[in-house]
Amino acid sequence: MRLKQIKLAGFKSFVDPTKIPFLQALSAIIGPNGCGKSNVIDAVRWVLGESSAKHLRGDSMSDVIFNGSSARKPVSVAGVELVFENKEGRLAGQYASYEEISVKRQVSRDGESWYFLNGQKCRRKDITDLFMGTGLGPRSYAIIEQGTISRLIESKPQDLRTFIEEAAGISRYKERRRETENR
Ligand code: ATP
Ligand code: MG
Repeated sequence: MRLKQIKLAGFKSFVDPTKIPFLQALSAIIGPNGCGKSNVIDAVRWVLGESSAKHLRGDSMSDVIFNGSSARKPVSVAGVELVFENKEGRLAGQYASYEEISVKRQVSRDGESWYFLNGQKCRRKDITDLFMGTGLGPRSYAIIEQGTISRLIESKPQDLRTFIEEAAGISRYKERRRETENR
């Protein structure tokens, strides 16, 4: 599975609709301080369901919406879409047969948030369920930030186990069992 493209509009510093294509297996984003490199990573994590403003380097969830500059007025909606190539059918369930998967999230200033899978409105849970066990959740190991490695090395055995279970694809089944038991 490979991230092919990110589309952003009204998200943090990306006020105008912006497409970022990833044409090869390895891409690097470079640019001066403050140009928006980390905002791109925040966008990926946000679409995948991150619900903590702090983890997106803000105080409140509406901080992801472009809040104006000396030349531009603030906007009222932020949206980000991720397009994944899924040729090997790594994603489970009904989406395994799709060669391309689009995941989209939008939020408005009044706090309303919408999620879409291949253009169809869905719940946050549909997205977290889809990526669970693939290593690509909002806080999973697919995104390694400064300090993540040392945090992992120094983590408690229970936390380390959570990482290993996600890497082994077990977390999906554990979550389902938890849900069944709680019914
Ligand atoms: P560095 O090299 O220092 O890590 P960077 O390229 O990672 O920089 P980011 O942290 O991605 O930079 O971007 C920071 C910029 O994004 C700042 O100029 C900040 O004002 C702008 N920004 C963040 N949130 C918003 C928002 N809601 N509206 C408008 N601009 C925003
Ligand atoms: Mg940065």
